[in-house]
Order: sequence, then structure tokens, then C-alpha cells
Amino acid sequence: MRKFIILIVGLVPLFMVAQTNSYQQAAGKDYWKNRKPFEGYWQQDVHYKIQAVINDTAETVTGTESLTYYNNSPDTLYTVYFHLYQNAFTPNSYAHNLAKAGKIKVTFGENEAKGIGTHITSFKVGGKDAEFSIDNTILIVKLQEPIYPSSSQVFDIQFETFWDKHDGGSLRRRMKTFEHDGVTHFDGVHWYPRICVYDRKFGWSTDQHLGKEFYGDFGLFEVELTFPNQYIVEATGELQNTIEVLPPALREAIDIKNYKTQRSDITKPIIADGTTKTWKYKAVNVHDFAFTADPTYRMAEVEWNGIKCIALAQEQNAHRWQQTAAYVAKIVELYSTEIGMFGYPKMVAADARDGMEYPMLTLNSGNWPGHQYVIAHEVGHNWFFGMVGNNETYRSSLDEGFTQWLTALSLKKLSNQDFDNNNLDKSVVFNSYMYHAAGDNNATLNVHADHYNSAERHGGGYGQVYFKTATMLYNLQYVLGDDLFKAAIQNYFEQWKYGHPYWEDFRNSVIHYTKADLNWFFDEWIETTQVIDYEVGKVKFEDDKSSVILKRKGRMQMPLDVEVIYKDGVKEMVYIPNTYFKKKNVGNVQSTWIGWDLLNTEYKLTVSDSRKIKQVTIDPSGRLADVYRLDNYLKKPQSFKFSKFQLPIENYANYTWYWHPNIWYNAVDGIKAGIDFNGHYYANKHVFKSTIWYNSGIGSRNGYSPSIPLSYSASYSNSLPNNLSWKVQSRVLDGLSWQQIGLKKEGNNATYRVYVKSLFRKNENDLNYLIYNNLWQKNRFNNTVNLSIEKHINVENGNAKLNIQTSGSYLVSDYNYAYLNMEFLRNFNLKKLDFRTRLFAQTGTGNFAPESKLMLAGANNEEMMDNPWMRSAGFAPASWEGYGVNFNHLHYGGGLNLRGFSGYAVTNGSEQNPFILYSGTSGFATNIEVDFTNLVPIKNKIKGIRFNSYLFGDAGWLKSSNLTTGFRADAGVGIASTLSFAKYNVIKPIAIRVDFPLFVNRIPAGEKDYFAFRYVLGISRAF
Ligand SMILES: [Zn+2]
Repeated sequence: MRKFIILIVGLVPLFMVAQTNSYQQAAGKDYWKNRKPFEGYWQQDVHYKIQAVINDTAETVTGTESLTYYNNSPDTLYTVYFHLYQNAFTPNSYAHNLAKAGKIKVTFGENEAKGIGTHITSFKVGGKDAEFSIDNTILIVKLQEPIYPSSSQVFDIQFETFWDKHDGGSLRRRMKTFEHDGVTHFDGVHWYPRICVYDRKFGWSTDQHLGKEFYGDFGLFEVELTFPNQYIVEATGELQNTIEVLPPALREAIDIKNYKTQRSDITKPIIADGTTKTWKYKAVNVHDFAFTADPTYRMAEVEWNGIKCIALAQEQNAHRWQQTAAYVAKIVELYSTEIGMFGYPKMVAADARDGMEYPMLTLNSGNWPGHQYVIAHEVGHNWFFGMVGNNETYRSSLDEGFTQWLTALSLKKLSNQDFDNNNLDKSVVFNSYMYHAAGDNNATLNVHADHYNSAERHGGGYGQVYFKTATMLYNLQYVLGDDLFKAAIQNYFEQWKYGHPYWEDFRNSVIHYTKADLNWFFDEWIETTQVIDYEVGKVKFEDDKSSVILKRKGRMQMPLDVEVIYKDGVKEMVYIPNTYFKKKNVGNVQSTWIGWDLLNTEYKLTVSDSRKIKQVTIDPSGRLADVYRLDNYLKKPQSFKFSKFQLPIENYANYTWYWHPNIWYNAVDGIKAGIDFNGHYYANKHVFKSTIWYNSGIGSRNGYSPSIPLSYSASYSNSLPNNLSWKVQSRVLDGLSWQQIGLKKEGNNATYRVYVKSLFRKNENDLNYLIYNNLWQKNRFNNTVNLSIEKHINVENGNAKLNIQTSGSYLVSDYNYAYLNMEFLRNFNLKKLDFRTRLFAQTGTGNFAPESKLMLAGANNEEMMDNPWMRSAGFAPASWEGYGVNFNHLHYGGGLNLRGFSGYAVTNGSEQNPFILYSGTSGFATNIEVDFTNLVPIKNKIKGIRFNSYLFGDAGWLKSSNLTTGFRADAGVGIASTLSFAKYNVIKPIAIRVDFPLFVNRIPAGEKDYFAFRYVLGISRAF
């Protein structure tokens, strides 16, 4: 008898295995158990039934959820976890704390501020009330009865999830509502309690939601959405009651073809009557369910291969969504042919102010033709994320990078925009990766989506999840050849469709399919920050044979496609494999170049031909992600063009030279006609800048003539490893000879510079150029060594910067002095006021060059040499130049920056013993500007000009040997206009300001009132 009972109990699990569940039946041949990626693989099954009611005034969704969860793992589950994603957008959530740690100011909407995301009103396990705990976005249930392998459990949950009105707070929240045309739009995403994934790699994935990615189990979703009657709804899955909610007459009325032209008013095909409609959806083999609803949605539908491709546009945009449904159909066709057949009955692109993917539903922004990019991307996610359901939170590169690669594919093949194909690959895929990698900022792909330096959104290198991964795929294509690559990707998709792959699964899939040794490739690309960098070395001609030395400078290895052009014009393609795998159709196969890191960094390519070589090119296709392509050629490629006064587009294919005319003026040289001639290569390599002027003397001030007929300014800088760069500059301009050489290091939010600088003016005429010509001595070398630190500091509500500089006389200087100064700048806003504050202190000693002294009123002559308007006289009236017994009207920010004292040779001391002191060696100052432009906006219709109005105050104290100015202060009101030149961005924005220092605390002998009308004109903001 006892044995018999044991036998029956033992049969129960077997019996359950034999049973098929509703999801298995619905999924049929696509059910994962019928197409396991490998023997022994398992994943869990879910069957969600949700009835949800949307309240469009309270902006809530109230739901009854019944989840049947099938444990297909070999493990017994004692605890289960659920995601409550919307709790991430409440005060003191993990996401909020991360933002705070990054000094990002966070605001919350009305409901968010109350801490409401998803509220659980009832939670039952197997029909019995269950106790649960919530840790922000994770709900934890300790089960009374465990879930055994091959058994299932039912969870019944009542919940309410809150949207936030008026777009909510500042954390990027995809579940949103917004108002337009007098209606409310709803995006319902990540809205229901979703069970965490228990998978064969990690067991439970219980990541807190920090605003980035998601992960879910495949299964069956049966969802009913009850909306007020006027809403048009779309969602994941097939609509089950079309006749009831979207009868033919209504469908016809909202058809997008009726909205080809924009109308001034919004039509109302359905009048809100206080009733509701329930939209019933069923989705098979998906891992999430989302919806979107809008009373003004207008619809288009194009079918491809039985798949409904739907575009949904808000009525106001419908005239610009006429082609979108056909475009979606073309994308579905393209990806189905290139990657693998789309597995669902429909694909929707909705006009929903977002750029986000859900199974069968994409939420987009923009209009035709501009929205082709976002739609190509989000629809692409239905292949990588939707069908191939990787753990996005853990490794978002597997969906974002693959989708980015698809985006480039479809834009190239389908877009009606006039893209140069080669440039499209660059802009959509290569550019960002190359820029980061060439600039020593490469990111590793095998990293948790939330662990990229704890950055928000796409910061901290997270963007490389898209671009480096897509570049990796182009380079895999380069290694394997087009056909084998395509077949391997199709095989991976087919193998992992409706499964949960990780990076190792992709690697294994490609390696086993291609039978190529690719571990070196995946190791380098996925696990390291190594880069590719090859070089064409010397060409030789000996024993009637031409040969060329190829060098590997990067730590990454790759096979090489090399094009050789002979002097007689004949071209030859050669292929140098790096393993025993050889790709097909690539020209003459050479011996294998085995080597990595220090092993075999050179390879001698002997071309068996008696002809001499003209050009050698490594990878003429441009697909190899070589971070320095200039030396991939024997003769380096260059382009030369007129700049159109625009900064050149970054181009890693060749060195770009660009030029434009330059015309300037000063009081001594008169009109200076010149030319700017600049060159640079990608990511700040070999940056050459120069200008040469002819000093015509035309229009020069009476009695003045140019010191020399030609003047110039030139600099060259180049980046070095470890974010270092070096720079040399030389200038003989406006009477000044300026020579400088130094090093720069860019660190985390900080820039460090060390440089040696030499300033020299030869004769009297060279001093005539100066606005303050008594503050420079002719025929004296002012040579210094300088060290500076510039550090950006994140502060709440604004930003701050700390500058530290120390300089000292050096080498054969005619002076002997040293100083250390510190400047702390902080900008922040309170309500509608913007505060700009500055603290400055300097201590100095020795025999100072007059041009380098610390000035009470503003910049010294040395600082003024940085600004073309201030480095020489000519733009301001001559009467504003020099220092005199009264306040004057010209100001350039710097020094102690007491603008009220501009041009005034400050007197101090007793009546018996007066002295003049406006430049010194030590001092301190504080400056403040309170910008009230937002309170009293200045009406302005001129494009490119911005006005700012502000109150200011300056206070400070200056010392020179044993003399001081005493405490000095000024205050007043100012107005600044900043002129920027939009696309002509080689011309820097110019700020012109007028400050009215109505109050000064000490006045010259001639003046009576501390309060008086005074003005100074300045170029650039005061600080
Ligand atoms: Zn994406």
C-alpha cells in the first residue's frame, strides 16, 4: 500500500511534464522546446492574463493580473521576484540616488513626488493571500509552497500604476502622457508587475531599474485594455475584437489617406460620451506587452507576407506619415530576408514622442522623411530584443549594437534620402566608435548596461554599446567575407530566436557555424579596449621583386586586405590571413601572419612581380576599424578645400586641409588681408592652424605704420597616448613675438597643462600696437614656465570650475618673478535668476614683467594677447586707451576684475605721500553677476543674437611690494549681447557688453559722488 502511494506521488511530476500548457499550444513549432538552441537548454514560460482599466483624468491604469508561471528549470524555487519598473521615478529610488551621486538635479512630477509608481493592492499565490516585500523596483515574495521543477504556479495580482501629468519629472520615463490638441496621449509601457527572469546562466536577474534596459520571459499575453470610448488604441498582439472596437466605418473614418493635407482643426470621428471600450489583445511568443492610445490617432496599414505593417500618427502629423506604413513593410521585408523571418502577425510604428521598442509595437517621434532612422532602429529591435531576447540589462550591446547595425543596413537600402553609402556607414556606425577609440577612450562591451561609469543615459561610454558593437559586426564581416558573415548571422538568429542568449552564445554560434578560429576576434572586441592600428612601411625593390613592410602598431590583430598599385597602373589585391581560416574571393592569398601584442609586429609582403610599386593601401574598403588610417597608405591621402567658414566634418579616411580668407584691422598695420590655412586628422591628430596676413598700412592711425609687412600665427598639436597631447605655437603678430611649447593632459573633468612661453617686443613701434602701451617694455624677454589645472566640478543646479595657475621666470628671461593664482567660478540658478560668481586670489613675488602683472580693473596685457579685439589698438577710441586720472570706458575681463576702475590709475596713500597703484603682484577679489533675463525678457527678433541683463558687484584688494590699493568695490547693472554665427562656426561667438558701474566705493579726486552714471564697454563677458 505504501509503495503504491509513493508510486502515485512519483508520477505526478511526470504527468505534469506530459501536459502541454496554453502557451506551448499557442506557440506551436516556434515554442522554444521545439527549437532548443542546444541540448539541455531551458527557459521559463509565462502566461499573463491582464484586465486593465485606464482612467484618463486620474491618469492611472488599474489592473487585475493573473500570471501562470511554468518552472522549466531543474531547480526548486522558494522565492520569486517581480519588477515594478515605475517605482524607479520616485524620490530616493535607486535611479534618483544614482542621479544625485552624479550631481544631476532631478525634478519629480505630481505623483512621482508622492512616491507613487506601481501600487500593489492584492497579491495571491495559488489563490491564497501572500506576504511580499518591496525594495523600490523589485517585489519579493517568499513562497509558502515552493515551485518544483516542471510544475507551475498562479499569481493573482491587483495593482494600480500611475502616469504623471504634464510629462512628469526629469528622470527619463518612457511611461508617459502628454497633452496635445486638447486631448491626452498615453504610452503604457513597463506598467504591470512583471516576473523577473530566472535563467540558466544567472538564476534570478533582480536588477533594480535605473532607467536603461529590460529583460523578460517569453510567453503568452492576453490583455484587455478598457479606455474611454474616444481613444484609438494599439498594442502588442493581435486585436481579438476588431468588429466591436474598430468597426469598418470607424476604421475607414480614421484612415490616414483622409488626412493627406493638414487641417486647422482636429476632427472627431468619435465623440466622447462617457462610455468605455475594451480592446482585447493576444500575443504569443513575446516577453513584454505595451500599448499606446490617442483620440487623434490616424491609421495606415500595408501588408507584407501576411504581416500587417501599421503606421499610427497623431492627426496633426498624419499628413507627414502618409508613406510610413509602406516604409515599415519594406523594413520588415528587408530584415526578414537578410536576418530571418519576422515571427509575429503585425508591426506597428506609432507617433508617440519616443524612440523605444516593444514586441510588435514601436514608439517613435518625428515625421517623414526624418523619422526613417528611428523607425528603422526600433523596428529592428523586434529581431534583436523582440525575437532574440537577450538580457538587455546585463548586456545591452547584444540588442542595441545589432540593431544599430541593422539601422545602417536599412537606411542604405531603403532610405529615399540621398546618403552616400560610404558616409552612411560612417555616420550611423563607425564615427562614434572611431572617435572614442582613436582618442584613447575606448569602452569594453562585455559590461552591465548600468555599469558604464555609473553614467546616466548614453554617458560614460555607454554609447559604445551601439557603435562599437555595430563596428565589431562590420569587422566580423570583413574577417569572414560577406556571404559567410550573412549566413552566420542568419544561423545565430535562427538558433536563438525566442531564446535568451548571452555574448558567449553569440560567439559559440558564429564559431561553430563558420568553423573559423575567431576567439582572438571576440576576445579583442568584446573583452578589451585594444584597437586596430596597421601601418604601411618601407617599399623595397631587390632581386627583381617588389616588397613592402607592413607593421602592426595596435595590440589587436586582424587579417589584411591589401591593394597594391604598380607604377604601370596595374592593381593587385592580396590577402594576408592571420589564422588558418581564409576568406573567399579576396585576391592573392599570402602566407599567414601570426602575431599579437609583441609577437611578430612586422610582416614582409613580397609581391611576385618585377614591377615597381606606386601605392599600397591596407583595406581599400574602409571597413577595417583602423584607428589611424593615414598610415594605411604608402602615399598618405589628403583633401584640400575651402572651409566655407564651417568646421570640417570629422573624417578618418584622409587628412583634411581647409582654408578661408581672413581680414582684420588694427591701428598700426591698418587693414590686414590674410588667409587661414588649417589641417587636421580625426580625433585631434596633427592639428595644424595658421594665419598669415599682409599688413597694408591702409587706414592706420596718423603717424603709425606696420613694423613688418607680413605677420603670422601658427600652431601644431598632436595627440599622444593616455589622453596626452603636445603643442607648439609661434606668432609674430601685432608687434609681438610669441613662442610656446607645452603638454596637455585631459583627465576626468580636468585639464592639466605645462608649457614654456616666450614673449618679446623688439622696438618702440612694436609697443604702439598696445592699448596699454606703457605696460610692456621693449627689447626684454619675458620667458616663463607655466603649469595650469582646469577642473570642472558638478554642482546641483549648475556647474563650477576651478582654475589654478602658477608661472615663473625661466631660462634667459630679462625678468625674475613667480606667482600662483586660483580662480573659482560657479554658475547656478535659483528660481528665475542665474548667478555667476567668481573668487580669485593671487600671490606673487619678484621683479615682474609689466605685461604679466596683476591688474585691479581687468586683464593684463599678456592676457589681452589672447583676444584679437584687445591684442592691439584700433577698435576702441584712442581716448579710451592707457591709464589716467579718471575712470575710463574700456574693459576686458581678468585679474581682479573690478570693472568700475577701468582705465583709472588708482591713487592711494596720504595727501603728503600719495602713490599710484593699478597693477601689482598679489591680491584677491570676488565678483558676482545676477542675471535677471528670465524675469524681464528682452524682446529680440534678430537670429543669432542673445541678450542678457544682470546686476553685478566686484570687490577686491591689490598689493605691490609694501603698497596696497586698500579695499575697492563697484556695483551696477549691465547688458550683454552675444552674437553667434550659426553654421559659420569657424567664427567664434562674440559678446559685447555695456556695464554701468553706478557705484564705486573710492572715487578719483575730480569726482564727487560715489553713485553716478558711468559706463564701460567690454568685449567678452567679464568672467
Ligand atoms: Zn535601440
